[in-house]
Amino acid sequence: MPEGLWVKCGSCKEILYRKDVLKNLSVCPKCAFHFRISARERLDMLFDGAWEELDRGLVSADPLGFRDSRPYAERLRAGKAKTDSWDALVSAVGLVGGRRTAIGAMEYGFIGGSMGVVVGEKVTRAIERAIEEKMPLVVVSCSGGARMMEGTLSLMQMAKISAALARLHEARLPFVSILTDPTTGGVTASYAMLGDINVAEPGALIGFAGPRVIEQTIRQKLPEGFQRSEFLLEHGMLDMVVDRRELKKALVRSLQLLMG
Ligand SMILES: [Zn+2]
Repeated sequence: MPEGLWVKCGSCKEILYRKDVLKNLSVCPKCAFHFRISARERLDMLFDGAWEELDRGLVSADPLGFRDSRPYAERLRAGKAKTDSWDALVSAVGLVGGRRTAIGAMEYGFIGGSMGVVVGEKVTRAIERAIEEKMPLVVVSCSGGARMMEGTLSLMQMAKISAALARLHEARLPFVSILTDPTTGGVTASYAMLGDINVAEPGALIGFAGPRVIEQTIRQKLPEGFQRSEFLLEHGMLDMVVDRRELKKALVRSLQLLMG
């Protein structure tokens, strides 16, 4: 959400008092549009109280020495300055409904929430920690997909995380995937869709390729609401669409159901 005393709703265009929006968990009080929130705000919202950050210092080694219009190393430093995180995911342990739970929340402000080696490693370590301590795992996705600046190494994270989730499943521990706007590319194509329960926030864009690419490929007009949460729920891709203001309650209930 942009800085300042007032914010404009991205949907109904109403000018809103920022404090009112924040009090409402960054949901528009007029039309229920869900503003994008940071990983840390997300963790504050889902945990009961204080939480302990895991693997904070993990940072990309820029294995390809990549540069496009700017060196990748410079983008990493800019991302850190903007989000106070070293990469696009903050993982933590804390209580959810009184139950110790591991949560990873993606940070869109860090290079579009893209998944590279560090995101892959942090999710994997959170899974391993969950297995060790017999905790449930929650990942909140908000991502443009794999991080092209790390090439194939970023794509490998899809397989790595999926394999770790299989071990979590073998340990009979649940994984709740929360999909927020946007969840696309390699993140959708791996862990975001592998939850025992897949929950999305209303109106979130969720897909693999973008609508324009699909339209050009199949040469057909896409239906209304294509790739939005409600459409995906109707077509069996999601289990629930839950308003952010009800999300914590729904998560506690889901964990109760899954953990017994
Ligand atoms: Zn609105």
